[in-house]
Amino acid sequence: MLLDLHGAMVPEGLEDGEGDLLRAVRATVGSAVPVVATLDFHANVTAEMVRHTTLLHGYKTYPHVDMDARGREATERLRDVVAKRRRPTVAWRQPPLLPPIAGQLTARGPMRRLYDRAAEMERDPRVVTISIFAGFPLADIRDAGLSVYVATDGDPGLADRLADELTAIAWAHRREFLHTALPVREAVAHALAADGRPVVLADIADNTGGGAAGDTTEILRELLRVGARPATVACVWDADAVQACARAGVGATVTVDVGGKVDPSHGAPVRVTGRVRTLGDGRFVHKGPMLRGLEGRLGPTAVLDVNDLKIILISLRWQTLDPEMLRVVGVDPAAERILVVKSSVHYRAAFEPLAHAIIEVDAPGLSSSNLARFTFKHVRRPIFPLDDV
Ligand SMILES: [Zn+2]
Repeated sequence: MLLDLHGAMVPEGLEDGEGDLLRAVRATVGSAVPVVATLDFHANVTAEMVRHTTLLHGYKTYPHVDMDARGREATERLRDVVAKRRRPTVAWRQPPLLPPIAGQLTARGPMRRLYDRAAEMERDPRVVTISIFAGFPLADIRDAGLSVYVATDGDPGLADRLADELTAIAWAHRREFLHTALPVREAVAHALAADGRPVVLADIADNTGGGAAGDTTEILRELLRVGARPATVACVWDADAVQACARAGVGATVTVDVGGKVDPSHGAPVRVTGRVRTLGDGRFVHKGPMLRGLEGRLGPTAVLDVNDLKIILISLRWQTLDPEMLRVVGVDPAAERILVVKSSVHYRAAFEPLAHAIIEVDAPGLSSSNLARFTFKHVRRPIFPLDDV
């Protein structure tokens, strides 16, 4: 049995969606059938998930550019188990560690350090798989946070030793997970002072992939206030504003309230008057390192142009992770002075190569990496960094 799961599912009334599912799968297929599940890097792994599977196999990158490779690998591991070439024995560790999302990237920092060490460990033929799940802190369930999963071939002592070593590394470097971003005004001022283009302003707190609305407006408001141009805000989820632009037609001047409609605690709509630059159906193909070749759908789109500040309005929520989302609506990302992308880390895979500089912005939003902004009720305590342990 091979399942492609995420690992941070929290259905209403149930903290551990995947654990519940895997228990049911195990009960159905019986104890003799191997059950392997691929999981996202952000999985909040639970004891139930570990207990009811033969192997868990996670992505090792954030941005997630190895989904394909990990899927193939999981299939090979399952074949080995079926053929009885390998008999996995698992060690799983769950230190009291809740890394904020923007501190989890794997290009550098503690997650890079952990996966470099894990890669050395995986060269040992006795090691079947190692996954270090950074976790999804904002789920606020008991088991949210980082965990270490090591499977060896019939060698529980080795699995324990390796899992303990990786856990100790994560713990020793826990402060490196802490993340700071610039306040909105400061971030915009820095971007305007830069000597190259484009400067990417990462609206890390309004990442729809992390559950945020995708319609916050604080950075847009500041760009309007200072008259930044040429600039693009990509992308604001606001189907009503798209419809208003569509009714007016390309070339028409409209006044609309943009964004800020989902969650008043993270900002209000902004009233703008601009020219409808393009209208589209929002269909595109991902061309960056993430999801390359897969079709994306933004629903009906409109680009509203306010003195060369372009606001890309979309009807279906999608994280700004691929420059194709701009090109498909007629915006050349390389030509802009400032690009706002609503994404925590995934944007880096495709935007870093074309960006002169990247500035992470501490704007309001539900996916903020400033965990002090939120009240946690269910995660186990004490846990770092909510508690200074
Ligand atoms: Zn993820």
